[in-house]
Amino acid sequence: MGRLDQNHHTFIQTLMARGPLSDKQAKAMFQDLCGGDAGGFSQFITIINKEMSFLQLEVRAGRNQYNGKLYYGLINKLGNEQAKLGTHYSHAQITFFKSVLEVIVSDSSLKGEISVIQALNLRLEGKNEQQSQGETSTQVPTMALTLAQKEKTLEELVHDRWLVQTADGMVHLGVRSFLELWNIFKNYDVPVCDICNEASIKAQACQNEECSVRMHSYCLKAKFFRPQVPRVCPKCGTAWEVSSVDVPQNRGTPHTNEGNRERSERPPGDLCSTPVRKRYRSLWES
Ligand SMILES: [Zn+2]
Ligand SMILES: [Zn+2]
Repeated sequence: MGRLDQNHHTFIQTLMARGPLSDKQAKAMFQDLCGGDAGGFSQFITIINKEMSFLQLEVRAGRNQYNGKLYYGLINKLGNEQAKLGTHYSHAQITFFKSVLEVIVSDSSLKGEISVIQALNLRLEGKNEQQSQGETSTQVPTMALTLAQKEKTLEELVHDRWLVQTADGMVHLGVRSFLELWNIFKNYDVPVCDICNEASIKAQACQNEECSVRMHSYCLKAKFFRPQVPRVCPKCGTAWEVSSVDVPQNRGTPHTNEGNRERSERPPGDLCSTPVRKRYRSLWES
């Protein structure tokens, strides 16, 4: 296992300058830099992470839960939202972002969204009063943002890819939030996906109201793709509605080989399983 060379440096610098790269972009860059096959990609990342761990930085893979796409980003392993956003955003802006985040991650419809209008109307003042009842001695009083300031903050958060604004006026989490805030989601008690164990922000819930199982759509796809896997909740056995868009309805013998489908059961969530993702994506496209 080697030390960082010029190729590693270029890769890191690109992530720093451009922000998260899609799986495809990251691997294309690796190919350009190092040539050879993509098999060496995870080793390339492992070397970077080993050398950078003392800086508490790492290249992490994370999935955009709205479309299932995998991204790579350089992230700071330490800190809360304040530490991660503090250099670019004021305390009031971070408080605003946290309020938006809280609504999105606790969206009971599991769409993981808030409307722009609702976001701009979040009352930060009330929130601050509540907080000051606790032992938050370091809490700086938050000045309320004006509507224009909230709009501008939203714009900046979208620009920096913490949030995404959709064409129909909704706000989603951006890829940077999925990469950097995954451990913060735990503080919000977001239930995890039954398959990949990551926070289920945009996901599907079991139809049985008494059952707490949730799964990401892309995890469901991988699980139910196999004809022999019954399409039921793994915990309570309630039938799980699966649309034909998600999984082919034809349960006949697929012409892909059995070995690949065996391994596609485990959904990708980290660096090690990236090749698996690649395998089953090509299955869907075939
Ligand atoms: Zn999942
Ligand atoms: Zn269930």
